[in-house]
Amino acid sequence: MSKRVAIAGAGIGGLCSALALAKRGFKVSVYEQAAEIAEVGAGIQLSPNAMQVLNELGVATLLQQQAFCPQHAVMRHYQNGKNYFSVLLGKNCEQRYGAEYWHVHRADLQQALHQACCDNQVTIELGSQVESYQQQAGKVSLALANQQRFDTDILIGADGIHSKVQAQLLDNLSLTSSPRFTGQVAWRGTVNTKDLPPNLVEPNANLWVGPGKHFVSYYVRGGEEINFVAVEERSDWQHESWSQQGDISQLRHLFKDWHPQVQEVLAAAQQCFIWALFDREPLSTWVDGNVALLGDACHPMLPFLAQGAAMAIEDSYVLAAVLAKHTAKNDNVHEALMQYQQQRLTRTSKIQLSARNNASLYHMSTRFDRAKLRALSALSASGLNDRLAANKLESIYNHNVVRF
Ligand SMILES: Cc1cc2nc3c(=O)[nH]c(=O)nc-3n(C[C@H](O)[C@H](O)[C@H](O)COP(=O)(O)OP(=O)(O)OC[C@H]3O[C@@H](n4cnc5c(N)ncnc54)[C@H](O)[C@@H]3O)c2cc1C
Repeated sequence: MSKRVAIAGAGIGGLCSALALAKRGFKVSVYEQAAEIAEVGAGIQLSPNAMQVLNELGVATLLQQQAFCPQHAVMRHYQNGKNYFSVLLGKNCEQRYGAEYWHVHRADLQQALHQACCDNQVTIELGSQVESYQQQAGKVSLALANQQRFDTDILIGADGIHSKVQAQLLDNLSLTSSPRFTGQVAWRGTVNTKDLPPNLVEPNANLWVGPGKHFVSYYVRGGEEINFVAVEERSDWQHESWSQQGDISQLRHLFKDWHPQVQEVLAAAQQCFIWALFDREPLSTWVDGNVALLGDACHPMLPFLAQGAAMAIEDSYVLAAVLAKHTAKNDNVHEALMQYQQQRLTRTSKIQLSARNNASLYHMSTRFDRAKLRALSALSASGLNDRLAANKLESIYNHNVVRF
């Protein structure tokens, strides 16, 4: 009889793992606290390492029409627009890493994952907040906030950075960890491409870096919309909610002395959301008996390498592959979950810390960062700056969990 898996959370990690597990023959139920499957109105970058999984699971086919394939990843000076580096993406990613690099709208990705889950008999219970779990004799009993209880063989906590599953798991193991406000806030929004002069924004992952701030823009929805993320260092986050509607005029003011392209994008924006950025120190364990964590519930990271969702997508594939292999041999579920952790923890911890380090460079924080940026500029005639940047991304993009 196929094993039952309960998943807390229907974010990108929860839905992707549900799909990967259902495709391996598990009986999957997802419990999501929200009343509907919805995502923030913003874009997301899907690097080749994530695309390998989305291709394999058949999600890329569903998303293709709404995707945008950028030509380069370009980092530029916030005022004069001079390139620090430009890394080839586009078709080059397919040749180099075996999969393309895509920019999509989060709602489109969420919808494609949701549809694929429904097509593969995943049950999704909305308005169902997971409160706690208990384990006995290799079974997990799951309690929802509305007092309902469900029995399952395996529980996956994909319930994001506030994860209740994680809090209980760490408590059971006498460990602690709290989310850390990184001193950064992100302003996010989208602009209709037709509201901007034609070709104003290059078809790239455009990153502008300056003192204490950076700005990212790229096309989504096949080029119909432009997504922007503006990150600002700020120590005074006092709002209880971690995301809220932002004041667009305040955002324009913050970037008033930046390159005209940045200002034009912000001038065309109708609204934006402001988002406090939290992360955690890497955890030492993600597993308690037959319960495991996945995605932001175990490795929340700053978005400065665009890898948070990519890591959740990679986790999903590895989790399903390892569980399928072990349960086919009737092995212990706990052993399989420990193997999943072992295959994922080093890579995700490394990327968590390297995303954190990028904050300093992007915001020209130290003398060393400024010297590094000057050196990158100076190398541009030789093209060495582009090769150095491409090499740094290589170990992230060239990791294909589908192949292992
Ligand atoms: C500004 C910004 C830009 C980013 N850009 C990128 C990018 O370009 N590329 C990339 O790869 N990553 C990016 N990320 C990171 C990415 O968004 C996250 O890593 C990813 O969304 C995490 O997915 P998740 O499913 O693990 O968690 P979440 O998206 O947080 O989903 C958790 C889900 O669980 C539900 N939930 C919570 N608690 C409970 C409970 N107790 N019971 C039931 N349900 C519950 C929530 O409602 C939610 O639906 C970015 C992040 C930010 C902030």
